[in-house]
Amino acid sequence: MSITGIRGFNDILPEECAVWRRIEDEAVRVFTAFGFSEIRLPVVEKTELFLRSIGETTDIVEKQMYTFSDRHGESLALRPEGTAPLVRAYIEKRLYAASPATRLFYMGPMFRYERPQKGRYRQFHQIGAEVLGTESPMADAEALKMLETLFVSLGISGVEIEINSLGCPRCRPAYKEELKGFLADKTERLCDNCKGRIGKNPLRALDCKTPGCLTATHGAPAVSDFLCDACGGHFKGLRSALDMLGVAAKVNPRMVRGLDYYTRTTFEVTSGAGTLGAQNAIAAGGRYDGLVEELGGPATPCFGFAIGMERLALLVDRNRVEKRPLVLFLAMGDGAGEKGVEVAARLRDAGLRVVADYAEGSLKSRMKRADRMGAGYVIILGEDEIREGVLTVKDMTTGAQEKIAQDKIPALIKGRSQGAQA
Ligand SMILES: [Zn+2]
Ligand SMILES: [Zn+2]
Repeated sequence: MSITGIRGFNDILPEECAVWRRIEDEAVRVFTAFGFSEIRLPVVEKTELFLRSIGETTDIVEKQMYTFSDRHGESLALRPEGTAPLVRAYIEKRLYAASPATRLFYMGPMFRYERPQKGRYRQFHQIGAEVLGTESPMADAEALKMLETLFVSLGISGVEIEINSLGCPRCRPAYKEELKGFLADKTERLCDNCKGRIGKNPLRALDCKTPGCLTATHGAPAVSDFLCDACGGHFKGLRSALDMLGVAAKVNPRMVRGLDYYTRTTFEVTSGAGTLGAQNAIAAGGRYDGLVEELGGPATPCFGFAIGMERLALLVDRNRVEKRPLVLFLAMGDGAGEKGVEVAARLRDAGLRVVADYAEGSLKSRMKRADRMGAGYVIILGEDEIREGVLTVKDMTTGAQEKIAQDKIPALIKGRSQGAQA
């Protein structure tokens, strides 16, 4: 029996990779323009890092982490998210020493043991960005602007941005108490998860999608009504900065995020209604002003977000993935093969994407194969062409073919494919 892949661990096949590559390239371009630099982090960290950052009463830590003991008995985890490892590196490598605010982005696989469904896998991929070292709501607003710029550059429209403020350690405890009081006579309706967490973390129930928790939390007090002056001012600053930048965002007082380290700003970007079904969040994040200090670094207010690659890829228009047409080079007849490889190399030097086909067989069967490969053009070098010092170029879209001098081919193909894309 042949060996299969693991459930929830997905192969990203070539056609999909073209879409991913485009997303990654755009992200690098846009984030770099906003002054962010890339950081590459390991996929394995000490389990303790996630226990201390994400919080012990979260779904991720309670149920979804891939942890294992290494050969020395140390508990390690496949990273379930990117912020904690980034903060770990920020502290360990003293990245805060370089400048007042550090702007970093990362991309790569994350791992959570969840029930696989459309657009959700156990190995999933994120692109994330973090601004470390500033408390200013301008940083939050600019990061949201950056995200919006990326979506626009990918041709994705109709996304909705929702924002909220979760307050800070000074004002949130009073809200927690208020919410606990509100839920006190409704605990029977809560799901087992939320019931178990009501003491430590009643906010989680606001985020829970089970029908019981939805009805139990209906009409619950809003965290925004409990913000202290500083948090209220921060949230107001965020909204006016977003206005100034032309970023449309709706306040959703029920939005709390599933991680403990968030403070003040939280946000979520969803695709327009229905596009992705229930799993329609494509990016989310917020402020985590206490995390760096919590993990042993200097007090450093931060803002960050992560984009779900699999879901974003579903929204990118396949037709907008730029690619040069594939040119298949067919050499026919004795001695043509070697000449063909040489000509193919020259055409590549001139900027074309060329595969030399060394296969045997009739022209007809080889043309059929070219079609299956999705070749945009086929260049034929046969005995006639060698004698006349030309090549035959067939446009696979129109079927038109002509004999043309080798040095004119790159301009011909580039000109046509640009015309076709316009
Ligand atoms: Zn506060
Ligand atoms: Zn619940």
